[in-house]
Amino acid sequence: MKRSTCPKNISMKECYLYKKLSGDKIQCQTCAHQCVILSKQRGLCGIRVNIDGELYLLTYSRAIAENIDPIEKKPFFHFLPGTLSLSVAAMGCNFRCDNCQNWDISQTPKQMGSPAEALAKAGAALPPEKIVERAIENDCPSISYTYTEPTVFLEYALDTMKLAKEKGLKNCWVSNGFMTKETLEMVAPYLDAVNVDLKFFDDGLYQKHCGGRLQPVLDNLKTIKKLGVWLEITTLIIPTLSDSEKMFKQIAKFIKTELGPETPWHVSRFSSYLSWKLQNLPDTPTEKVEAAYQIGKEIGLKYVYSGNIASENSENTFCPKCGALNIKRNGYRVKRHDKNGRCFRCSEDLNLIL
Ligand code: SF4
Repeated sequence: MKRSTCPKNISMKECYLYKKLSGDKIQCQTCAHQCVILSKQRGLCGIRVNIDGELYLLTYSRAIAENIDPIEKKPFFHFLPGTLSLSVAAMGCNFRCDNCQNWDISQTPKQMGSPAEALAKAGAALPPEKIVERAIENDCPSISYTYTEPTVFLEYALDTMKLAKEKGLKNCWVSNGFMTKETLEMVAPYLDAVNVDLKFFDDGLYQKHCGGRLQPVLDNLKTIKKLGVWLEITTLIIPTLSDSEKMFKQIAKFIKTELGPETPWHVSRFSSYLSWKLQNLPDTPTEKVEAAYQIGKEIGLKYVYSGNIASENSENTFCPKCGALNIKRNGYRVKRHDKNGRCFRCSEDLNLIL
């Protein structure tokens, strides 16, 4: 793969998945938007630019955020529970969710007038080998590609994931699930876990409030499962948008029948204060989150967790067979009672990736 230099001499990387169309026109094949991009233009995410008929990622080796987080914060409750994860993001996103809490890093490239401006603000230099080094130095057994959408910084994420694997680290994505099948198949050999936001069960809401579509997300969820990558699902319950019992049932049934009852479902409370464009909405009443939890359990999901509410057992892991409390969570404090991933009382498999 070629590297090119932008006018400000910051490195860019040629994208892995795109095809050339007529003239200098190209089509990006990284996410389900499959943008057709004219010369000197960028795709919808604002960070992939057509330079003379070749597509380049503007944010390669540029981290806009880097933190050491509990893995539970992603959230992952069945993947390396109780551990830390080196968490990184590059600027940009292929969605424009009204409820976004990280809009200051996900949406900014779209507001920048030129690729050079986007590049200049793309964050600190943090090459893949440095990310891996920092994970090891800080006793993080995994690297999370998170805060923004990892699909749109595929080349940066994938190169890091390959190095991480060589060093015995695990990789996890927190994603909107709107990638192409080609992207999924490319990352799957290096991807250990993914948490996908299943935001609505309604295509119109996906289009109106996120600039995305439902069907590619559903298809990708099934593919992730088939590829053998550990999967957890998150649904943010937003008043008037994603808070109906009908939608809770549709999502829970989809998870159970298409992904398997062992797939954890996180239902969490919306906070208007943190949202990009939904500050006119109230915070989600606790009862709505509890209703989603109940419906998930009634439909037969083994693990449902409710987030951002004050409830003693809402984030604990109980044995799906005998009901024993196996993992107690209090904020990000995690106390495990399981025996190597099995219930301490009846030995049932708790579907933990350890
Ligand atoms: S990653 Fe998606 S949004 Fe960005 S250029 Fe490619 S197809 Fe368009």
